[in-house]
Amino acid sequence: MIVPAATDVCIVGAGAAGLMAAVAAGRALRANGASGSIVALDGARTLGAKILVAGGGRCNVTHWRVTEAEYAVNRPAVRSVLRRFGADETVNFFNDLGVELKREETGKLFPVTDSARTVLNALLRAVDDVGASIVHPARVTGINRGAQGFTISGEWGSMRATRVILATGGMALPRSGSDGAGYEFAKSLGHSLTPAIRPALVPLTLPSGHWITELSGLTVHAELVLRGPTGKRLVHFANSTLCTHFGLSGPSVLDISRYLLDARDREPGTTLILNWMPGESADATDAWLLASKGRGLLGVLRERLPERLSRAILTQARLAHDATVQQTPRESRRTLVELLVATELPIQGDRGFTYAEVTAGGVPIDEVDLGTMESLTCPGLSLCGEVLDVDGRIGGFNFQWAWATGWIAGQAAARAIAPIAESNN
Ligand SMILES: Cc1cc2nc3c(=O)[nH]c(=O)nc-3n(C[C@H](O)[C@H](O)[C@H](O)COP(=O)(O)OP(=O)(O)OC[C@H]3O[C@@H](n4cnc5c(N)ncnc54)[C@H](O)[C@@H]3O)c2cc1C
Repeated sequence: MIVPAATDVCIVGAGAAGLMAAVAAGRALRANGASGSIVALDGARTLGAKILVAGGGRCNVTHWRVTEAEYAVNRPAVRSVLRRFGADETVNFFNDLGVELKREETGKLFPVTDSARTVLNALLRAVDDVGASIVHPARVTGINRGAQGFTISGEWGSMRATRVILATGGMALPRSGSDGAGYEFAKSLGHSLTPAIRPALVPLTLPSGHWITELSGLTVHAELVLRGPTGKRLVHFANSTLCTHFGLSGPSVLDISRYLLDARDREPGTTLILNWMPGESADATDAWLLASKGRGLLGVLRERLPERLSRAILTQARLAHDATVQQTPRESRRTLVELLVATELPIQGDRGFTYAEVTAGGVPIDEVDLGTMESLTCPGLSLCGEVLDVDGRIGGFNFQWAWATGWIAGQAAARAIAPIAESNN
């Protein structure tokens, strides 16, 4: 590991956004015959850890249709960024690197190889091809701005840079190297941070011994609904839901987690409701039960739900499994219906950044120029990826944000050191 004494562009963090920024900056320079050096520093021993674990090792690179509606906050800013570099640009970019993407039923795009390694290797090759270098492990501990540009330092020494692109990610999966250090750098360079920085896309915990934890390993298609204190539906997700020994996980739970955690702070009295029969109302479910005359309730529930879940729900409703609907008192039937379509979840908390896929919060987006991703408080500094206050739902939207902002930041940094035209490839 040898860190050069000086560079034109220093990218701090070589994850999804940083690698993209390196390629974009290098291509912009080369396309215009300009010279300039680009060095990416990363603290991790293994590069691209998050790319490699993403999508269960297959890397859900983006989604066939990405709009700002898939992001939880700052949608106008997301729209503006996606107009510059959206899903089509991502697909073309990876195709150009020889990574063909396929669309799955859910709309998610994966490499046809079903291997995240294809994505990471292609990015690393592309960085090399444009003449940028990556030095690692080289953890950065300080970034200072002086009259002559920036000094980036770490245990390895220090390096001067004309421009810095901060691509340190958030705090999710800290063992990958993203532990929130970037927030401190941003603050030291004049930025603020959102009042809360929380795990998002994170599993949720229930009180120990809660009946759902007894169903550990069970996966069902269910709907989660976040209700405000007045009962108003605030947000809902219907998708695969996994019961675990600690509580709940799976796409629907991960997707709703950031809304629940956020609402809990801002709006006490919000509740999380689970509908085990998505799309069914209490009235329709009651009518379905009433139509089951003469049959044992366990058999009836099993038509729609897994046996383990059916048994657990009947036990919770204190109903004999072989009781028929006629033998069931009206009050018990009401309890059963409520459990089926509106189980209230006494969520205790979340599994924290260690198990989160992304971070909610970060550097406010209105502190950067969206056309260049350059800081509005610190000239010469750009920010991209998860260090910014943008997070999306499951489906490739978070990588899309990293690719898009990395691209814009890299291109703009190159233009700043060697004024050249904007390009899209
Ligand atoms: C388990 C898991 C699965 C995921 N699956 C998907 C998916 O399939 N699709 C999707 O869209 N999103 C997915 N995500 C989210 C996605 O990985 C992130 O949104 C994305 O990686 C953010 O990119 P980034 O470059 O901003 O940050 P990161 O990818 O976190 O990269 C930041 C880099 O900065 C380096 N760094 C941090 N601090 C320092 C420092 N002080 N000095 C030097 N280097 C530093 C880190 O080592 C790291 O390499 C997943 C996340 C996780 C945890």
